[in-house]
Amino acid sequence: MKMDDGSVKVFTGYRVQHNVTRGPGKGGIRYHPDVNLDEVRALSMWMTWKAAVVNIPFGGAKGGIQCDPKSMSSQELEGMTRRFTWEIAMMIGPDQDIPAPDVYTNPQVMAWIMDTYSILKGYTVHGVVTGKPLELGGSLGRLEATGKGVFITAQEAARRLNIPIEGARVVVQGCGNVGGIAAQYFDKAGAKVIAISDSRGGVYNKNGLNTSSILDCKKRYSCLITPEAKTGEEITNEELLELDCDILVPSALENQITRKNAPKIKAKIIAEGANGPTTPEADEILHDRGIFVVPDILANAGGVTVSYFEWVQNLQELLWNEEEISERLTGILKRSFAEALNISKKEKVDMRTAALILGIGRVVEATKLRGIYP
Ligand code: NAD
Repeated sequence: MKMDDGSVKVFTGYRVQHNVTRGPGKGGIRYHPDVNLDEVRALSMWMTWKAAVVNIPFGGAKGGIQCDPKSMSSQELEGMTRRFTWEIAMMIGPDQDIPAPDVYTNPQVMAWIMDTYSILKGYTVHGVVTGKPLELGGSLGRLEATGKGVFITAQEAARRLNIPIEGARVVVQGCGNVGGIAAQYFDKAGAKVIAISDSRGGVYNKNGLNTSSILDCKKRYSCLITPEAKTGEEITNEELLELDCDILVPSALENQITRKNAPKIKAKIIAEGANGPTTPEADEILHDRGIFVVPDILANAGGVTVSYFEWVQNLQELLWNEEEISERLTGILKRSFAEALNISKKEKVDMRTAALILGIGRVVEATKLRGIYP
């Protein structure tokens, strides 16, 4: 594509469909320098199990472009998004594969995808992406859905461990769509968010932070602490993960909790806002240490659930209100949590294995029912 200075640059983008047995592919699009085929492939598989865990009729897909969005102008991001949409247009669509936002993509990016796809079709196609702006067929509650879902599932875990949410000490890594919103839900429920971070590091205050003012600072000055408004101490992302707390919410990128830091984690509950924040080796250590992990395919499934609501509303040209959406989302997540917990007790396995038994089991059942053609 043409950059602002007139030069031509080549970007590599991916769209992977992992499994479409239970319905059209569904999954976000990520803009990040580390995007690569293996990562997108793995993330698309996560989406297959996630949609099955919450029992919504989608398969798994994911996409991304290897780029540094922070160094690009809005015009360049729009150009790159439109060109990418054009390249993958033959493999996406409301009945085929429905992208959504992920790391460093947002409702504006979804609007550009929807517009480019609609121009190719010759008519407006709302249902080709979810996470759109409200003015373009987006759903109420979609922006908050993933963070809210992280809060709901962490709350279910806390109830099981008899940890009152009010006064619980919460640490959040990442303050984007997932982490920032989850932090605000914890704050509103009376929990104490004692640390939060972005890619450059975090802010820590053992007495609790005012999450709204920190996120406002991030929005206005692109940083969590300004020299004028010191709300807490600076802390690195590594230190943040090892803080003494009740609930840890990794909501940035994958592979944050590893064999190295897992023995030092002090949280009682880990609610995985990000996809894949815990490595398999770390997972075993956490399990042996009795830390209750709400796995990503359950903890962050609120996003795909409300994406499903958005798609249903688009196909039927309906508009649901916020209460309807919130009630349906809470119902689905609580039911899925209970289903996974039952399996975990019955099979004597951790919650990740239980959620995988639930999700993979549903895909297996659907595959058997469809049979082999011819
Ligand atoms: P986002 O772009 O809105 O926010 C990402 C956040 O992570 C930012 O605060 C950024 O500063 C921070 N970050 C980036 N690199 C970091 C690093 N190295 N260390 C610490 N922080 C870092 O993205 P998002 O939508 O909030 O996604 C975050 C995670 O949640 C990803 O793993 C994504 O796949 C997953 N997820 C997102 C959704 C959704 O609906 N947006 C749904 C399910 C899962």
